Amino acid sequence: MNISNSLKLFEETQAVIPGGVNSPVRACKSVGCTPLFIERAQGSRIYDMDGNEFIDYVGSWGPMILGHRHPEVIKLVEFVLSQGTSYGAPTVLELRLAELIVEAVPSVEMVRMVNSGTEATMSAIRLARGYTGRDAIVKFDGCYHGHADTLLVEAGSGVATLGIPGSPGVPNAFVEKTISLPYNDIGAVKAFMDRQGDEIACIIVEPVAGNMGCVPPEPGFLETLREETEKHGTVLIFDEVMTGFRVAHGGAQALYGITPDLTCLAKIIGGGLPVGAYGGRRDIMEKVAPQGPVYQAGTLSGNPLAMAAGVATLKQLKEPGFYEKLAEKAKRLAVGLQGAAVVNGVSATFTQVGSMMGMFFTDRPVRNFEDAKTADLTLFSNYYRAMLERGFYLAPSQFESLFVSAAHTEEDIDETVRAAAVVFEMLTK
Ligand code: PLP
Repeated sequence: MNISNSLKLFEETQAVIPGGVNSPVRACKSVGCTPLFIERAQGSRIYDMDGNEFIDYVGSWGPMILGHRHPEVIKLVEFVLSQGTSYGAPTVLELRLAELIVEAVPSVEMVRMVNSGTEATMSAIRLARGYTGRDAIVKFDGCYHGHADTLLVEAGSGVATLGIPGSPGVPNAFVEKTISLPYNDIGAVKAFMDRQGDEIACIIVEPVAGNMGCVPPEPGFLETLREETEKHGTVLIFDEVMTGFRVAHGGAQALYGITPDLTCLAKIIGGGLPVGAYGGRRDIMEKVAPQGPVYQAGTLSGNPLAMAAGVATLKQLKEPGFYEKLAEKAKRLAVGLQGAAVVNGVSATFTQVGSMMGMFFTDRPVRNFEDAKTADLTLFSNYYRAMLERGFYLAPSQFESLFVSAAHTEEDIDETVRAAAVVFEMLTK
């Protein structure tokens, strides 16, 4: 594969942008590649600056559930663009997006727009602290909630990929109120909450973990979080930045029937433009300024272009059968890949919830970060590079999820499975 333009651009970029990227995992370091510079994308395909075409399972790390350049999204964004780009004042579009979110997500009675998932989780935690008057928070090992100081403890995604324990620049005082427990460990949650539950402002969790690879919640885990938080007056926050409008129209909370107090959203609700949001119970959300005392603001919050992309995207997702069809396709991929691995004697575990998928080169079930870390990372990077060569654009880390979009065809899926079978055979020789 010729990637000479990308190589040259990466070299030039490294001189002016740290590591040559604006978000660490994009550098593809852990899989021994240089990043491809992207020129454009359409439907399920993404094209680099050397004219290479790939079937895209990254989908901009989750937002592109409709595939790239969906005509309805482009149409509305182009219309809104013709009116102006930013006013720093209320618009009808932000009302419509808020209504679409409130209608779909069971826990959300009121919602505030921000500009990223990081802002959403950071703001939801401040709100939980302001609401409860407590400081300490609980998260789970391997969950990633953005790059806010208090949330990098035992984090997944790039923090896991690069193997760094948090980050320099985060004062100890900022993280000493963050407690991280093992994911899916009901006993650990109960024991901890018995001891300290009354001091905890919130428990924040990815209801389907997507940043240590894709790790579904075990039966009883989310239920326990709900029971224990209720018992101790602790706010339960579902970080649905990845799962919101992804695993079901109402997110993981609708899929599993557990309603948190607050929900964080981003990715899909921005249809590929920069957006985040946090919302939840009215009595908690009413504490947000200017209605209440908990301060949070943003120059570009509710940006009209982002709201337009979000509104157009969420409207499409209301189509009857949309999520069933999408999950069918993802299942076809997961089952196909699992079959190809078995046939070729590769120890691999595939996980799938709706159109979110994970793949671990290990023979044991993956139920938490410790299990995920046992996966063979060398095998993964060999697999990644071989798939890229064959035209398949996957997330360049074992600790990320893959996404199937409405634009992927059955033929795309079958082509992927056929290529993976060839790669598995090659890797075991
Ligand atoms: N929360 C979760 C579950 C995420 O997956 C991410 C990003 O991948 C974030 C928060 C942070 O979102 P952003 O990258 O938009 O700041």
